[in-house]
Amino acid sequence: MKIGILTIGNELMNGRIADTNASFIAREANQQGWSVEAIMSVGDDFAAIKDRLNYLLSMTDAVICSGGLGPTSDDITTAAIAEAFDLPLYTDESVLNFIKDIFTKFNFKWVENNAKQAMFPQGAEVLPNARGTAPGFSLSMNGKFIFVIPGVPAEAKLMVTNGVLPALRRHFPQKEQYIVKQTIRTFGLSEAAVDEQVKDIDFDSLGVNIGFYPVFPENHIVLIARSRNQDEARNHLQKAQDEVSAHVRDYIFAYGEQTLEEVIAGLLTAKKLTIAVAESCTGGMITSRLTDVSGSSDYLERGLVTYSNAAKISMLGVPAEIIKRHGAVSEETARLMAEGVRKLAGTDLGISSTGIAGPTGGSPEKPVGIVYIALADSRKTICRHYAYRWDRKRNKDIFAEAALFLLKNYLQGKA
Ligand code: ATP
Ligand code: MG
Repeated sequence: MKIGILTIGNELMNGRIADTNASFIAREANQQGWSVEAIMSVGDDFAAIKDRLNYLLSMTDAVICSGGLGPTSDDITTAAIAEAFDLPLYTDESVLNFIKDIFTKFNFKWVENNAKQAMFPQGAEVLPNARGTAPGFSLSMNGKFIFVIPGVPAEAKLMVTNGVLPALRRHFPQKEQYIVKQTIRTFGLSEAAVDEQVKDIDFDSLGVNIGFYPVFPENHIVLIARSRNQDEARNHLQKAQDEVSAHVRDYIFAYGEQTLEEVIAGLLTAKKLTIAVAESCTGGMITSRLTDVSGSSDYLERGLVTYSNAAKISMLGVPAEIIKRHGAVSEETARLMAEGVRKLAGTDLGISSTGIAGPTGGSPEKPVGIVYIALADSRKTICRHYAYRWDRKRNKDIFAEAALFLLKNYLQGKA
């Protein structure tokens, strides 16, 4: 099946926002095995919307439009589409009541403009919006379909997943009925390196598609298997997964939707271990990610941001002499930070970070992007250093990821 994507909004045309809706919709359509023929953006302009929509319809089976469904006068998508196909607009009373109820519930002042969001072209089917006030709609014309969803990315995503994709699957049943997918989450290999590692695997003969999705600083590999037979699809997916795993084993931290901090949560809980964190260059990011998991208070005792030398000395007991001799960014300091916070918190483990996020502060011996991560338990302290070369924000992200990845490896007996 052929798909067109039309994103609508002046803020797309003047570059104020990036078109994340288009990339999300395209990715989802591809995962269904559909072909995205064209992606277009257009401002909030009657004639332009009509023109681009007709153009996209001429080459596709379905066009998915996002944006311009709100109550304000610049939101004209519904009216433009109605005009494009000579359809009168009608008010859907149940949608109108639904919107009015929301206003009452949250004590918002009702402005008549809001009634606009309950208006649809004749013949439209309303697509409910579980997150916002403006519902979307679909229209079918001569065997082709138009879907219209709001611009707000969280609402758009939900409606694509829950409304648009199921409807399209119903209207265009696939020859290959069964599609199964698996995500393999990796860290430590670039996208190109992952590609290189798996290039000898014969995915075609398994009927499996492989896609690479960098989610900085991670790289996710998505395998999609299609078959008329459900068991066969599953078997082929498993085979492909096994082959990929054999090639990139050391870099994988999860299969499916699990995050790195969730994997760590499982390991710490299973081993009944507690941890404390002493952070310098990561400014609290390691602790923040550990606390992204509900129930983290079971194992996380504390996280300290010891940014200055004085804080490292007074809070963690790192001797001033060591910092003077080796520098705050050094293996010696990292080790003493991890040991210090472990002792202070009385936990099983202590982990630390100290590095140079840049862009200033680097030197030939310790360039921007260097980070030392140390992990202490009751018997020993391990320390690793890594050299990255991103901007400040990304360096911090990848430092925190590297620390968590080391922790995961340690907990799995691999470090
Ligand atoms: P609302 O009811 O909130 O007005 P809407 O359907 O009218 O929703 P817009 O007004 O076009 O949608 O956009 C709402 C918000 O969503 C804006 O903050 C806009 O920046 C963002 N947005 C719109 N289109 C896109 C897009 N294609 N990609 C990412 N963000 C978008
Ligand atoms: Mg709007």
